[in-house]
Amino acid sequence: MTDDRATQQRRANALVAFTGAAVLVGGLLGYFLPDWLPTDDHARAQALLVIGFPGDLLLRMLKMIVVPLIVATMIVGVSSLGDIRKAGRIGGRTIIYYAATTGMAVLTGILLVNIIEPGVVGASVPENVSALPQSLQQPKGALEAILDVVRGMFPDNLIAAGAGMNVLGLIVFSIVLGAVLSTMGERGRPVLRFFESFNEAIMKIVHLIVWYAPVGIASLLMARMGAAGADFWNVEVKQLGWYMTTVISGLGIHVLITLPLIYFLFKRQHPFRYLWGMAQALLTAFSTASSSATLPVTMECAKNNKISERTAGFVLPLGATINMDGTALYEAVAVIFIAQSLGVELTTAQMVVIFFTATLAAIGAAGIPEAGLVMMVIVLTAVGLPPEAAGLILAVDWFLDRFRTAVNVAGDSIGAAVVDHLEQRNAEPAPVAAA
Ligand code: ASP
Repeated sequence: MTDDRATQQRRANALVAFTGAAVLVGGLLGYFLPDWLPTDDHARAQALLVIGFPGDLLLRMLKMIVVPLIVATMIVGVSSLGDIRKAGRIGGRTIIYYAATTGMAVLTGILLVNIIEPGVVGASVPENVSALPQSLQQPKGALEAILDVVRGMFPDNLIAAGAGMNVLGLIVFSIVLGAVLSTMGERGRPVLRFFESFNEAIMKIVHLIVWYAPVGIASLLMARMGAAGADFWNVEVKQLGWYMTTVISGLGIHVLITLPLIYFLFKRQHPFRYLWGMAQALLTAFSTASSSATLPVTMECAKNNKISERTAGFVLPLGATINMDGTALYEAVAVIFIAQSLGVELTTAQMVVIFFTATLAAIGAAGIPEAGLVMMVIVLTAVGLPPEAAGLILAVDWFLDRFRTAVNVAGDSIGAAVVDHLEQRNAEPAPVAAA
């Protein structure tokens, strides 16, 4: 290992250690926080505001950087592929990987929820379904929700797409711009050179943000857990314990068995060493519950893990938006759990419908907190369950969101490694035939 490489590795390890410590300290303090907070509502809210402030700043920094990051990396990534055949190949591989792993995740969820049957053994389900998010109170039909996703790919106003963090719209535009620039030869060079240098500068800013991340992470967790209060653990977790166990076990199987196995099959290397290298991204995902906000950290970790910038620049932004293994698994478990709790028997055909719609809902879910809950309407209505039934799992959704977001980011990370490996293999020069 060269000195440079060794220093880089030491720094990366230190960052993971800080971030891990931040999650532990933040989580633990957050657990006890409700006892220490003032009882007066106003004073309590003020205290939580101050405690969560450094975390709020972290979220703002990540969100600030994510739009320029996506645009620059996608344009540079796609244009560097040059040849349209190469672009088609990496695109095809990425989509196949994403579709296959999402399918495996949903299958794991469906099997597990049918074995554990949390809605049958879990008995008491909270009655209170009043605090549904606005979007679920006036649910859209499944068709409209799907059309909305496609609509989002073609934003009618680019500036608004950036301001509203319509990541999918920005990705589509950047892919097209990158591809077009690469066909323009010399005349396209100035714009490409601009984005290359812009991209490098943005990555340097990301590098600074990740050093602040541990502070923000501890604060985010403390404030969120503190706000949850004792009722969360004593009432909601008890009532929905089996459901939570099923979701978390499914996510565990996917991230600790399925994904590592895929990594090993392709790369023949230690999958957990790689995942350790991505640990800061996974912990950031856990703390922010947003794949999109985590994207800058994921890109930084991928760079440290020697994933080529070209692959990472293409696979990761796309993955943060459309590849959500954790969300897909959770959609399936949640809907089947709801059916079980309501005493609705689902047929095998309906299970198949859930398989496809859960995948679709995960693709359509934005990389922001609790987006999966909103997209669940598609799955619920597809099997004839009322959208309001999502209220049954509302109380614990913010908590499970963290686990599924971490798995979403793990899926993207392994995807980047697998696709990069295949790309590198293709790029190797063919052996010169002996004369
Ligand atoms: N919060 C998840 C993400 O950003 C999406 C979801 O399942 O709600 O990846």
